[in-house]
Amino acid sequence: AYLRLLDNYHESASLYRVLNLPCLNFSPGEIVEMTHLSRVKSWSLYETLKKAAGDAKTRSELLEKIEFLLDRVDKHSIIAKEKNVGVVVYAFLEDLGYLKHVIRAISEKSQADALNYLNQFYKKIEHFERQSPDKSLRTFIKRMDLIIEAGDEGGLETDIEAGPETVKVLTVHGAKGLEFSYIFVVNLVDRRFPTIERKEQIELPKPLIKEIIPEGDIHLEEERRLFYVACTRAKKGLFLTSAEDYGGARKKKPSRFLSEIGFVKEEPSAEKKKGAREAFEERMKEKPPAREKAEKQPFVIPSEFSFSQFKALETCPWQYRFAHVLKIPVKGRASFSFGKSVHAALQKFFQLILEQANKTQTELFNGSQKSNPAATPSLDELLKFYEQSWIDEWYESKERQNEYKENGKKMLKEFYEADKENWPRVRYIERGFKWKISDPDSGEIYPITGKIDRIDVLPDGSFEIIDYKTGKPADAKKGIDKNQLLLYQKAAQEILKKPVSKLTYYYLENASKISFTGNEKDFQKLEEEILEQIGQIKKGGFAPAPDPFKCRYCDFKEICEFREL
Ligand code: SF4
Repeated sequence: AYLRLLDNYHESASLYRVLNLPCLNFSPGEIVEMTHLSRVKSWSLYETLKKAAGDAKTRSELLEKIEFLLDRVDKHSIIAKEKNVGVVVYAFLEDLGYLKHVIRAISEKSQADALNYLNQFYKKIEHFERQSPDKSLRTFIKRMDLIIEAGDEGGLETDIEAGPETVKVLTVHGAKGLEFSYIFVVNLVDRRFPTIERKEQIELPKPLIKEIIPEGDIHLEEERRLFYVACTRAKKGLFLTSAEDYGGARKKKPSRFLSEIGFVKEEPSAEKKKGAREAFEERMKEKPPAREKAEKQPFVIPSEFSFSQFKALETCPWQYRFAHVLKIPVKGRASFSFGKSVHAALQKFFQLILEQANKTQTELFNGSQKSNPAATPSLDELLKFYEQSWIDEWYESKERQNEYKENGKKMLKEFYEADKENWPRVRYIERGFKWKISDPDSGEIYPITGKIDRIDVLPDGSFEIIDYKTGKPADAKKGIDKNQLLLYQKAAQEILKKPVSKLTYYYLENASKISFTGNEKDFQKLEEEILEQIGQIKKGGFAPAPDPFKCRYCDFKEICEFREL
C-alpha cells in the first residue's frame, strides 16, 4: 500500500491502509475523522491530510502524526524517482519505524511470521531487480499487478519449520528428503498402496534388457520402499490410515503393508506378525540424533554454515540473531556494491586469461599454434569488464558513486601494472565449496559452504588461494584474522586433493599482499573454534555484545535495543 501511495498520492485506499499501520500510531477515531472529512468534502485522503496539516485548528497530537507521515511520503517520493525499488522499501521500513515495531512490539510468534513475510517480499524485490532493466518502483508495481492479474494472489511461502502451523499435502516421492512433525499416510488399502502394477503397453523382451533384473516382485519392492520413505518422514508422530469405504460397491481390504508390520489382524501367523511389528518399530526408532535435539530448539538450526555467519556471531551474537535467525532484510551498502563490481571485473578478466591459456595449450598439442603464447588481455579489457560489471546501487549520491568508480579504476590499473609481466597460472575462479566438519564428541556432521576468489597453481604444483579485499589494507603488524583463509585451505585441500602452500589476502587499494600458510596446529584450533560456535548457535546463545565501534557499523543499529553509539 505504501509503494502504491508513493506512485499515486491520491490513491485513497492505499493511504487508508497506511494510516492503519500500528507504527504510525493513528487512533481509530483519528482515522475515522480523516476519512469522514475526505468523503464530505470530496477530497482524496491525501488532500485531507494536507489540509489538516495546514489548518491551525488541528490538534497538536494529530498534527504531529500527520506531519511525520507527509514528510516521509515527500522524502520517499524523491528517493523513488532516483533509486531502485529496494532502496525505497528499505527507507520505508526504517524511516516509518516499521521494522522497529515488528521487532519490539509484537509477540514472538507474530514477529517470526511478520519477518518471514517481509523477508520473502524482499526476495521478490531482489529477484525483480536482478531480472528487470528498469528497477523503478513504478515498474515493480506494474509487474506485481500483472502477476496478480495472472492469478497469483500474492501468496507467500511459509517456512514449515518456523510456522505458522500448516498442513502440506504431497506425494511420497515429493516428500523424499523432507521431514515434518506429524505425518499422515492415507489410502493404506489394497490396490491403492501398494498400487497395482501397470504393465508397459509394449513390453521389452527380456533378452533385450542389458541390466540384471532383480528377482521377485520389483513393483511391490519399490512400493514397499516408498512406504518406508513415507513413514520415516515423521519427527513426532506417524498416523497410518485406511477405510473400508472409498465409494464403490466393495469393501476395501487394508494394505498388505499394514499386515506386514502387524497393524491389522490378518495373516501371517501371530508370532510372525509380532516379529514384523517389532522390527518396524525398531526401524522407526533409528532417527539421527540431531533430529531429536533440533525439536527442542525454539528456532531452526541452519542446515549449512559459512564464514560470514561465524564472523557475525563473533562480532555480536545479537547481530547474528538478527541476520541469520530472524533473517531481517538489510539495506545494501555502497562498499558492497563497489566490492562486488571489482570482484566481477576480475572474475571476467581471469576467465579470459584461463580461456586463452587453454586455447594456447590446445594449439600446442595439435601443432597448430600460430598465436603468441604470452598474449594476455589488455588493461583496456580489464577496464571494459569493470564498466560492464558496475553496480550503481546504494551510493549516497552521484558524486560519491563517481568517487568510488574512479578509485576502482585506479585500483585495477595498479593491479594490472603489478602483475602484467608475470600473470599467475590460474586454476579456479570463484570456486564454491561445501566442506563437512564432524564433531568428534557427538558424531554430528555440519556442512560449511564458501566461495574462493581465486586459486593459482604455483611452480611446485601446489595451490595458492587468493582472497581480494577492496576495503582498507590490514596492518600486518597488528595481526590479521587468518581464519577465513585457513578455512578455505582446509576445505580446498580436502576437496581438491592438492596441497595448498600459500594463502594470500590481496588488498587492491594499494596492490599489497599478506601471505601465510596454515599448519595442523592452526587447523585444529580452527576446527575447535568452529565447533564451539556451532554449539553456541545450537544452544541459542545470542547474548548482545554492544560496543560503540561495532554498533556504529551494524546493519541493525536502528532496531536494536542494546546498541551503544
Ligand atoms: S547494534 Fe550493537 S548490540 Fe545491537 S546487534 Fe548490532 S552490534 Fe549487537
